[in-house]
Amino acid sequence: MILVLKSKATDEQIDALIKELAAIGVNVVKIEGAEKSILGLVGNTAQVDSDHLMAQDFVESVKRVSEPYKNANRKFHPEDSIIQVCDKTVGGLDFTMIAGPCSVECEDQIMTVAREVKKSGATMLRGGAFKPRTSPYAFQGLHGAGIDLLLQAKKETGLPIVTEIMSLAHIEMFRDVDVIQVGARNMQNFELLKVLGQCDKPILLKRGLANTIEEFLMSAEYIMAGGNNNVILCERGIRTFETMTRNTLDLAAVSLIKQKSHLPIIVDPSHATGLIDLILPMSLASIACGADGLAIEVHNNPKVALSDGAQSLTPKQFEEMMAPIKAQVKFSGKNL
Ligand code: PEP
Ligand code: MN
Repeated sequence: MILVLKSKATDEQIDALIKELAAIGVNVVKIEGAEKSILGLVGNTAQVDSDHLMAQDFVESVKRVSEPYKNANRKFHPEDSIIQVCDKTVGGLDFTMIAGPCSVECEDQIMTVAREVKKSGATMLRGGAFKPRTSPYAFQGLHGAGIDLLLQAKKETGLPIVTEIMSLAHIEMFRDVDVIQVGARNMQNFELLKVLGQCDKPILLKRGLANTIEEFLMSAEYIMAGGNNNVILCERGIRTFETMTRNTLDLAAVSLIKQKSHLPIIVDPSHATGLIDLILPMSLASIACGADGLAIEVHNNPKVALSDGAQSLTPKQFEEMMAPIKAQVKFSGKNL
């Protein structure tokens, strides 16, 4: 971290700051110029608050030269992280295919979809039991009963289950869930992230609707700082001025995050585009960009789905997509 000081900075002010930083293990190298001085901060600067430094009236500017995320940073963990989920692994050479409905609606729906996607080669089953809906009058999910139905589908198919937590008040209900999803709207629910950091369950962390890559990685850092390193990232599109797609799929983020972080990252082309015709091309592109997996919405009867029917594939469409996806995964040197 580099601090440029104003010319009026006094020796007393500088010494006090140096002492304050030394107390948290950060050393300071001072470079004195003819008019202004510069301080170079060396050590674990992740815990240094840039805003606090800027609030000192003798500080002109603050520039970070290293990333504020440490646990999620590839610099300190060069090998890819591989996350164990039941008998499957996420990351490394294994490609993860998560499929299932937006919401768990009833036994017949989730069992049918689970059987079909398993047959086509899905490796995990998704389904929302708690749904973050824009309207309070829209279907909110089956809550505990939805999780029970997912567990029933897991029992029959053997597919690990992925489902979203929206509130800490529900955490007990997620006891037997294999992967806890943190949805886009909760990516910066820091209290939720902190508690999830205390457990050892894999967390599927989706990128927020309007969050930068650094904010995304800092949210992963929240979970990891608590001791839970089982974080799987998910790029699901961000808000832009474009209205013809539901969101704008940021595939550059996937390749960049692969460089910046050792955590696995998957892509959700369903929420990223909102358009079934774009799911296959965006899936193939995601694999080419280095994604470790995909999360795709599949419904046995999209026309009557209680949420996201328009972007949900039928089991047959999903099955047809799997052939080109498997070929592309193989081409990229991974296994599905
Ligand atoms: C979902 O996966 O069901 C969901 C609500 O996604 P997102 O949080 O990405 O909008
Ligand atoms: Mn959905």
